[in-house]
Amino acid sequence: MVPSEPHLINPIQLAERREKLKGVMALSRLERARGISQDVTNQVNFDLQFSRDDQGFNVIRGEFSVSLKVLCQRCMQLMELPLHGKICLGIVQGETRHLPECYEPLVLCGNEISLESLLDEEILLALPIAPVHAGSQCPGGNPAETYRDTRASPFAVLKNLKHDM
Ligand SMILES: [Zn+2]
Repeated sequence: MVPSEPHLINPIQLAERREKLKGVMALSRLERARGISQDVTNQVNFDLQFSRDDQGFNVIRGEFSVSLKVLCQRCMQLMELPLHGKICLGIVQGETRHLPECYEPLVLCGNEISLESLLDEEILLALPIAPVHAGSQCPGGNPAETYRDTRASPFAVLKNLKHDM
């Protein structure tokens, strides 16, 4: 596979023009996210709206979705982890402290950033700390049931003792 050049964008210029970027990005192009997924043939869908808000901040709002293949941290088997994230970035060059709290800072060094690194970062932020299968879908069992089982055992022992007496 020939590595292709990253897609460089100039977010400030895009914000001035209030442009929209929508498309798909191969997961294999995202340096960190691809290291997390056991399957990198999936694609990231993204929809980004660049604009300038009322206070003059250049912002990017939008969303992305991707499905990663990761190990369930309960049963250690592979599972599909669908991720859907909202993007709300305020573009800053240098100082971030004036940025309103509703924005997550996107600190620019220079004028350009690659679309790959932007999406990579957003996916990492959206990742759960310990992904696990949803409830009953996990072959490792439901932790609530495991808890009940261990609670039941001392009584089972008591019952046997009574029986012996
Ligand atoms: Zn599981």
